[in-house]
Amino acid sequence: MEEVDAIVIGMNVAGANVSKELALLGINTLVVERFAQERIGEKTCGDGLEKHEFRRLNLEIPKGDFVIREITKGELVAPDLKSTITAQAEGIGINRYQFNQHLVKLSINAGVKVLDKTTAVSPILENYGNSMKVSGLKVCNKKGEIKKFRSKIIIDCSGVYAKIRNQLPKSWWVSEKVANKDTAICYRETRVFDSDLEELFVRAYFSKEIAPGAFYWIGCRDLRSVNIGIGILRVPGYPNPYRQFYSKLIPLHPYLKKGKITWKSGGIVPARRSIDCMVANGFIAIGDAACQVNPISGGGIGPSLFAGKLAASVINEALEKKDTSIESLWDYNVKYNKQYGFIQAGGQVFREFLSSLSDIDINKILGVQVLSDEDILYAIEHGKLDAGFTTKLKMARKLIKYPKLLFLLRKMQTRMEKARSFYLNYPKSSEGFLEWRKKVHKFFSVNI
Ligand SMILES: Cc1cc2nc3c(=O)[nH]c(=O)nc-3n(C[C@H](O)[C@H](O)[C@H](O)COP(=O)(O)OP(=O)(O)OC[C@H]3O[C@@H](n4cnc5c(N)ncnc54)[C@H](O)[C@@H]3O)c2cc1C
Repeated sequence: MEEVDAIVIGMNVAGANVSKELALLGINTLVVERFAQERIGEKTCGDGLEKHEFRRLNLEIPKGDFVIREITKGELVAPDLKSTITAQAEGIGINRYQFNQHLVKLSINAGVKVLDKTTAVSPILENYGNSMKVSGLKVCNKKGEIKKFRSKIIIDCSGVYAKIRNQLPKSWWVSEKVANKDTAICYRETRVFDSDLEELFVRAYFSKEIAPGAFYWIGCRDLRSVNIGIGILRVPGYPNPYRQFYSKLIPLHPYLKKGKITWKSGGIVPARRSIDCMVANGFIAIGDAACQVNPISGGGIGPSLFAGKLAASVINEALEKKDTSIESLWDYNVKYNKQYGFIQAGGQVFREFLSSLSDIDINKILGVQVLSDEDILYAIEHGKLDAGFTTKLKMARKLIKYPKLLFLLRKMQTRMEKARSFYLNYPKSSEGFLEWRKKVHKFFSVNI
């Protein structure tokens, strides 16, 4: 059996990045990707990166030909289309395909070996003391040929379906199943116009009627092209995003009909906190495979780049110690959760709160500006609402006639703080994990 130090499954953002980081540390790394190399990056995406996320996570803001524009403001639109709050956003619009290809190139230049057009089929496990560890991977190429690789560590970057993580023994903490209701299903198109639009904009629309549980968006790539998408929580009885797109979204914004469709595709995005435990003996999960996505904005590129860098340094230390046990890799859980996981946890509370509101309530809240542009950006960025929000709630005379809504807003604020604190106090070793998990599951088992 061929042997390498590390095998990465998937070469999109998470896989391309972590493999590059590993190779730069001198670790002999193989990536297995089911698509042909030139197709990597054909991904349904909003094509936006938030600069604050990169700064917070100490990541360089990506630069290159794949940057299509600077984003300086974003608008949040209420269901009645009357109330709009404009946020001074700081972001960049990217060509997602070119961005991913850029990451692939960096990885290959760093010395990573790529096996494209090859699917990771199943993990290989072996005895490890009283337990088991992941010790290799079975793969299958397009001709149907099966091959096995041995490796000191397997890194699952296969996206939301977490192909290998989901096959690990049920008793392993890392194999936690992600409920459908904690993911959103999306449909997206890009359309090109013959003449210029009036202005450049990025708009997110809340509407339970059109996009229950999530939102839809229309964002300019430039004055002649837009990215239009809709995300709907995967809850039984909720509609299909493709149908909603054509039966509700397009009729409500008829100018979009003039655009020629240049791309259409669907996708699923996690909309929750990161999975409880992201490591096992000989195994790490990164990116969507570990639910490392901001539950409010759906942004997963920044967190997965951060997690890749972190994972590479933890893996490097583990390999130097010749110990890739869960304990040796545990620091990845701790550091990720202390630097970003807590924001996701608070964000999940906020997202669940918004999902629970009727369109009428959202109109009220956005209409009287109790939740302002700054509050929402702050919530995305920090997973909580800042002190100014408490003052505003006290002074929200216009909401006094809606006491239930005021009560819910206060409750949400407290719950966001509590959710964050679980992740800021993530157990330092596996010893405290079960008790921690029990509390977290109890907390998230009730909605607002
Ligand atoms: C509609 C939509 C809009 C989004 N918009 C944004 C946005 O604007 N900004 C942002 O930051 N994030 C956005 N995201 C989230 C972002 O796209 C993801 O978080 C990010 O792509 C995660 O990268 P990943 O590498 O973990 O997973 P993926 O991008 O899913 O990549 C997984 C890779 O693994 C490969 N693979 C899967 N199974 C196997 C297998 N068995 N064997 C070998 N290879 C395999 C796949 O081919 C793929 O290349 C959006 C997501 C969606 C769905």
